[in-house]
Amino acid sequence: MKEFIYADNAATTRIAPEALDAMMPFLTEEYGNASQPYSFSRPARRALKDARETIATCIGAMPGEVFFTSGGTESDNWVLKSVLMNDADHKGLITSSVEHHAILHSGQTMERLGYHVTYLPVSNDCLVSPADLEKTLASNTTSLVSIMFANNEVGSIQPVEELAHIAHAHSALFHTDAVQAVGHVAINVHKLGIDFLSSSAHKYNGPKGVGFLFIRQGCKLAPYADGGAQESGLRAGTENVASIVGMATALKLNCDELEQNKARLLSLESLLIDTLRHEGIDFIHNGAKAHVPGNVSLSFRGADGEMLLHRLDLMGICVSTGSACDSKNTQISHVLNAMAVPEEYARGTIRISLGRYNTQKEVSAIAQSIIKILHS
Ligand code: PLP
Repeated sequence: MKEFIYADNAATTRIAPEALDAMMPFLTEEYGNASQPYSFSRPARRALKDARETIATCIGAMPGEVFFTSGGTESDNWVLKSVLMNDADHKGLITSSVEHHAILHSGQTMERLGYHVTYLPVSNDCLVSPADLEKTLASNTTSLVSIMFANNEVGSIQPVEELAHIAHAHSALFHTDAVQAVGHVAINVHKLGIDFLSSSAHKYNGPKGVGFLFIRQGCKLAPYADGGAQESGLRAGTENVASIVGMATALKLNCDELEQNKARLLSLESLLIDTLRHEGIDFIHNGAKAHVPGNVSLSFRGADGEMLLHRLDLMGICVSTGSACDSKNTQISHVLNAMAVPEEYARGTIRISLGRYNTQKEVSAIAQSIIKILHS
């Protein structure tokens, strides 16, 4: 395989070999349908039960509160649409202006259906203000507050416990899109007062196309898909046993090593930042002090993020641009806009997201490559 440096772990991650090994039997010999009663299906059924228990333990939930889905997008859509449509009083949604499009576009769909949606602003470091939430809840009737746990572009971690507490004080339910946080940050859903939490396996070295939704016991959601009785009748369809097993294995691995990973990634971040500063490069390091370890969003003054991404690509380095909504759109992203990053910096933004398999040598090479491009 061609040598390259992968530093876009917030987009997706390399599957952990341990997760792949755990999946293999269910892709080969143990292919039974977990819903069938005969003994050949027993290993598949057992694997689903074990995976549910493992995931529940990792997030401080009960196994019956974990529902397997196809990933973050499905989990987000399910909660938003189901909670709002379930509410006979047609109350609204409060979310933030820096959410992933899985939330923002779901919110827009609900607006088209006549629901009231408020998008809270954020501070310069991408944090929602609890006082803003309090004020908005006091002046609106709201069934759901949905605020992401950690931002995908800049990594800032929201004051989730406080926000959930405020939502409950106003009789609203609280959902968090924790796609960037699960497996990277310690989470106990019950301690934090979370009612619904979305997660996606490919963000923590699990396979793509699988995730889960935590639904607190007692919180009612309409089924996402009608059909068979899988997932307690809430999400019909034959379970993707191999991927679910891979997800649980990868999550446990990351949760068991959370503190070591955090220390290692924070030290790699410092190496990157210090090397750039030492060279006198003019940049803003975006985001809050509390952030997902390894997620580094940098805005270089007077640079062009697209150009940086492509020049780094030519040097064999994968990063992403934070200044473009997508690869064909050169607008400043909704997140950087909401944070009011000055335009002369915002246009030169890249996100370097380090993960489980990045090394010091790779981070030094990334820093030196950026310096070379900016000095050329
Ligand atoms: N929410 C956030 C914060 C994300 O970063 C992503 C993916 O980038 C998603 C949702 C969508 O997750 P998935 O790729 O599993 O659909």
